[in-house]
Amino acid sequence: MRTDPRPINSPQWRAIRPFIAHRASFRCETCFEFLGLTGQCDHIIPRSEIDMLGIGVFDPTNLQYLCISCHSAKSNRERAAGREKKPPKSHTRTTVPGRDAFLAATGILTVAPKRNEKC
Ligand SMILES: [Zn+2]
Repeated sequence: MRTDPRPINSPQWRAIRPFIAHRASFRCETCFEFLGLTGQCDHIIPRSEIDMLGIGVFDPTNLQYLCISCHSAKSNRERAAGREKKPPKSHTRTTVPGRDAFLAATGILTVAPKRNEKC
């Protein structure tokens, strides 16, 4: 669980961003493109996991300076990895009254509808 959902708008974030850019020599730390101050600070360990590990949102050791392209690629990989971790959604049947009767009438459902079902 994130303690601060939007650190980008905080004064702390605005203060640490130039430090991270300077530390990276104003270059993307993945592709080494020169960015000046136009780069983005990225959490090396994703924000969704840092609270669990006791890492602060503004901890400079967990921040890197990336170009938009490298940042997007990393974020997409993290999102894809997050999706893989979740168990697949189980199929749940709707509880709309009359569903079984409707499906039986269309021939999709071959089992007789429940007797106590209201139509
Ligand atoms: Zn890059």
